[in-house]
Amino acid sequence: MNAVQNATVTAMKLEGVSKLYGPVVALDNVSFELRKGEFLTMLGPSGSGKTTSLRAIAGFIQPTSGRLSIDGRDMTFVPPQKRNIGMMFQDYALFPHMTVLANVGYPLETRGIKRTEREKRSMEMLEIVGLAHCAQRYPKEMSGGQQQRVALARALVFKPDIVLLDEPMAALDKKLRGQMQIEIMHITRQVGATVVSVTHDQEEALVMSDRIAIFKEGRLEQLGTPHELYLQPRSEFVADFIGEANLLRGDVRSTGEGVFVEGNGWMASLPKSDPRYATLSKVQKACVVLRPERICLAPAGPLSPNSAEGVIEDKIYLGVEYRLVVRMSDGGKVNLRSRDVASVAAMSAGDRICMTWTVDDIVVIGA
Ligand code: ADP
Ligand code: MG
Repeated sequence: MNAVQNATVTAMKLEGVSKLYGPVVALDNVSFELRKGEFLTMLGPSGSGKTTSLRAIAGFIQPTSGRLSIDGRDMTFVPPQKRNIGMMFQDYALFPHMTVLANVGYPLETRGIKRTEREKRSMEMLEIVGLAHCAQRYPKEMSGGQQQRVALARALVFKPDIVLLDEPMAALDKKLRGQMQIEIMHITRQVGATVVSVTHDQEEALVMSDRIAIFKEGRLEQLGTPHELYLQPRSEFVADFIGEANLLRGDVRSTGEGVFVEGNGWMASLPKSDPRYATLSKVQKACVVLRPERICLAPAGPLSPNSAEGVIEDKIYLGVEYRLVVRMSDGGKVNLRSRDVASVAAMSAGDRICMTWTVDDIVVIGA
């Protein structure tokens, strides 16, 4: 099956899954579909329900309500060993007394695969993760990154329907983490694995994922490609969680010409014809999401639609761009980045300036 056909095949489906621990709602009515061959990351702050979701998928916990199916089969109450799922955790949990080859072959052994076949398939997997030359070593003779690749090989060797990764990079230092993110992404794509990963690191999610599911307080806030989440966040939480965002909260005013969201010294003007903003005239408060790199600078002047006035508070030169912090008249701060290095060089802290944008540069979220 080619990648395009794959993209539409459902590997797993969660329907209204909730998990209660006494009064604690660990998961609250979570529904989504995982597609065959995709790399999906569950991203959210600590305590948002990521690990609970992963455990429900693996079968270590049973949902209080809701349904889970894999390849169209109801799996809600099927025990873990009867689900064809591979797993890799942050502490790789390699067996210290077994060689690398035996570690990778272990899931095949438990499935009754004979030794010759087991070793052949384990070696093939070690080739893929670039560790065939370490087959006879023991885990303690391997570096952290190598041990992690062994754990990945072990999670993939029996061709699981789904591979689960729980905070896979947490035990690695920052530099190695960056390399492993890219390696794991390449290896899982190469073997066509369907992956659900968990992290609280937004950069890791952006680097590795086809789609990201953002969790907050046990609920699925939004699921989409990194691009969709960045360009069309549906809540302030998502706007703030993916990338850097200025959140300008203001009053909504609707006139014959259009809808305006405004505060002291700033105004966003939205065409009424835009379907995204059709319901905005029904609310009183809204939040304008303004990305730092989408703001243009102009000399201070009378306030026009889609602009804000302010005073430069900090100006930091970073070679490729300037970063500015601008204090607005309503007291709020705006962070912006400008690659118009020549123009910004002529500005100083304390200067009054005007920031402008177009309708396409912003997202407005009704409160
Ligand atoms: P995350 O992985 O996103 O950090 P978890 O899924 O581990 O979050 O936890 C979600 C919520 O459920 C948290 O409030 C956590 O304290 C609670 N929780 C998780 N497991 C248990 C448990 N076994 N007993 C009681 N509460 C739990
Ligand atoms: Mg967790």
